[in-house]
Amino acid sequence: MIPVSSIILTVSCCVGVLAIQGDFEMHLQALAAIQVESCEVRTDEDLAKCTHLIIPGGESTTVGKLLERFGLGATIRARAQAGMPIWGTCMGMILLAQRIEDSDQFTLGLLNITVRRNAYGAQVHSFEAPVPVVGLEEPVMGVFIRAPIVTETGNGVSVLSELEGKVVGVLQGSILGTSFHPELTEDRRLHAWFASIEPQT
Ligand code: GLN
Repeated sequence: MIPVSSIILTVSCCVGVLAIQGDFEMHLQALAAIQVESCEVRTDEDLAKCTHLIIPGGESTTVGKLLERFGLGATIRARAQAGMPIWGTCMGMILLAQRIEDSDQFTLGLLNITVRRNAYGAQVHSFEAPVPVVGLEEPVMGVFIRAPIVTETGNGVSVLSELEGKVVGVLQGSILGTSFHPELTEDRRLHAWFASIEPQT
């Protein structure tokens, strides 16, 4: 496991943020706050300029349809298989999952997990809670908005975070998924850690 608390940003990177729908702007601001280069990703050409990709919160059925229709999903899959680090927050984690309970919607299938969408209920049941993350000395403040949980982890997946016995953060190789939204807080530790993961390519 990467020691998150002792990261020095030495890697030259450009973190793309999928900017089709959802709260991509907050991720761009979080990256700017720690002087990490970033760009909005809507096309294969945008993705080609990036070393890393964040898939933000939003509506997974809508974004999944668009990723499938315009072929960007296939390009993301190919880049992941070639070693590009990818981090999905909330909707992003749903889109990375291999299996979604009671749904046959499009996924990228890059994390060997099963997720349950809207596991904590509707928007009005949104909440914040401190969440421990493996490798971080202090917990992060987790913001949960119609958040999914991970109900099953398969081979190769390590659990990074649990909240009241429910898995809310996972890592498989350089693919990271969190149920919560670190971009909505002032805490930049997870963004700094993600940007420091070395791409394999
Ligand atoms: N509930 C949304 C979905 O299933 C995800 C919510 C979010 O990303 N904040 O796509």
